[in-house]
Amino acid sequence: MKDYADTIESDVHGNLIVGINTKAKRRLMYAGHCDQIGFMVRHIDSHGCVYVDPLGGIDATVVPGSRATIHTDKGPIHGVFGRKPIHLQSAEERSRPKYELQKCWIDIGAKDEAEAKKLVKIGAPVTYALDVLELQNGMISAPGLDDKVGLFIVMEALRLCARSKLSVAVYSVSTVQEEVGLRGATTAAYGVDPDVGIAVDVTFSSDNPGASSTKSSPCELGKGPGLYSGPNINPKVEQMLQKVAKGKKIPTQPLPSSRLLGNDTRALQATRAGVAAGCLGIPNRYMHTPVEVCSLKDLENSAKLLAEFAKQLGERTSFISK
Ligand SMILES: [Zn+2]
Repeated sequence: MKDYADTIESDVHGNLIVGINTKAKRRLMYAGHCDQIGFMVRHIDSHGCVYVDPLGGIDATVVPGSRATIHTDKGPIHGVFGRKPIHLQSAEERSRPKYELQKCWIDIGAKDEAEAKKLVKIGAPVTYALDVLELQNGMISAPGLDDKVGLFIVMEALRLCARSKLSVAVYSVSTVQEEVGLRGATTAAYGVDPDVGIAVDVTFSSDNPGASSTKSSPCELGKGPGLYSGPNINPKVEQMLQKVAKGKKIPTQPLPSSRLLGNDTRALQATRAGVAAGCLGIPNRYMHTPVEVCSLKDLENSAKLLAEFAKQLGERTSFISK
């Protein structure tokens, strides 16, 4: 972001705060979280197998058979989550598999406990093996698209409006620790002290057999970002996002949420004396698995929408309902 930013700062918590036009009185903050669900090394057994605890909402059913990366001071160490072969499973184990993360182990190929302990420290962070797969129709699959896509969008939005004339300061923030309780957004929003704050995170798409029509609204990949409404959202921010999207012919999808959102929006909204909050939901399939899927088209459209929103936000635009 060096080529575009006026200021780049990190705070004690680990947030990275990138600002443009920072002399302006009014502040707009965009948040995309850089953390992802993962694991933490708990124990290494006598075979040299590595046991982990969850960091964030791990779905234990997709853990066995997946690839893992243990992040150490000396670089990444590859491993695989082992599983008893189907041939050796009892009838009970086959028909009613129980997935308990506590019983899953990572095999790094160590010859014994001593070698594994030399390579891996207790407490080391672990992710699913990180890579990205290109699918058909501009779709990609990777672990942690929640919320790398949001992080990309907020930084790309900043890049797109950095050379334009702006009435407000814009801060795009890479927030930490969303998955363990919105902790980065809480401190970053306090520090930036914005008037308007918009979080970008993934949302459940309804366009696949794993979707639930009773638990989420219709939402399809490639049809644009979802615009949230509900108790976490300032109605005028939502209306302005709609208007900007319409004017620029950017597709969007309505995302009503009667419940409080489980993402950075919630922290942004209740900062200091209150922030006019909004949220873009990027359609995502298979959330919190190692094979999350998003559409690149949605990423481009979302960045364009936020760049335009920043350009149209005036010094006096009011978000207080009369
Ligand atoms: Zn997220």
